[in-house]
Amino acid sequence: MEPPADYHMHTPLCRHARGEPVEYAAQAVKLGLTEIGFSDHSPMRRDDFDNWRMRHDQLDDYVAKVRQAQKEFPQLTIRLALEVDYLPGHEEWIRELAARHPWDYFIGSVHYVSDDWDIDNPAKLSEWKNRDTFEVWSVYFDRLAMAAASGLFEIIGHADLPKKFGHRPVQDCAPLYDKFLTAAKQHDCAIELNTAGLRKDCREIYPHRDILKLAFQKGVPITFGSDAHAPEEVGMDFNLAIQLARETGYRECRRFELRQRRMVGF
Ligand SMILES: [Zn+2]
Ligand SMILES: [Zn+2]
Repeated sequence: MEPPADYHMHTPLCRHARGEPVEYAAQAVKLGLTEIGFSDHSPMRRDDFDNWRMRHDQLDDYVAKVRQAQKEFPQLTIRLALEVDYLPGHEEWIRELAARHPWDYFIGSVHYVSDDWDIDNPAKLSEWKNRDTFEVWSVYFDRLAMAAASGLFEIIGHADLPKKFGHRPVQDCAPLYDKFLTAAKQHDCAIELNTAGLRKDCREIYPHRDILKLAFQKGVPITFGSDAHAPEEVGMDFNLAIQLARETGYRECRRFELRQRRMVGF
C-alpha cells in the first residue's frame, strides 16, 4: 500500500516558511512518499491585505519553483496547488486565480472570521480575549460551510482551526460540524487530516476525532497534509493521522490531477 500523499506544503514566498520546493521534494523521497502537492498561501487581489502570503506578481515564480521540483524529482509525483483563503465576496477573485494556471487542486481555508481578524495569527492572539469563543467558532464554521458549498475547492483545510491556541467552546458544536459536513458531502468536497495541529498549543490533529467520525458517517472523503512550512515537516506525524483515519473507518483517501478526483487506498 502506498503512503498517503502530502497535499499541504508551503514555500518561502509566503514569507513565513523556509526551504525551497526542491528541498521539500528531497525530504519526501527520503521518507518514501510517492506523491506530494504544494499548496502555498495564494495571493489576494490586494497585496496589502496582509503580510503572510505571496504577492500577486509572484504567482508565476511559485509555479516555476514547483515545476523545477517536478523536473529534478521525476520519481515523485508533485502536484501544483494553492491554499486559498475563503472570505465571502472573494469568489470572483478565486475564479480568476483558478484560470491562471493548470492547478491540480485548491485547498479552501478559512483563517479570517472578519476582514481584519485572522484567528490563527499569533500577533492577534489577544483579540480572542475580546470575543466570545462560541461566537467565533460559529462564524468560522458558517464560513467553512460556505467555502464547501462554493464549489471552488477540492479540499477544505484544517477544519477546526479555531482550536489552535486552545480556545474551545463549552457549548455543543455538533450542529456547527453537521452543517459544514453536510455542505461538504453535497458538493463532493474533501476534508484534510492536517498534522500541523500537533505542533501547536492544541496538540491535536485538525480536525478532532468527533468531526472526522461525523465526516465518515456522511461519506465525506479525506486527504492528508503536514502543512509543512519547513522541509523537515514534510509527512510529519502521518503515522498518527493514518491511525486516526483508520480508527474512524476510512480506508481510502482522495487524490487529484488537474482538478479531477480519484480514490486510492492507504
Ligand atoms: Zn502558513
Ligand atoms: Zn492554513
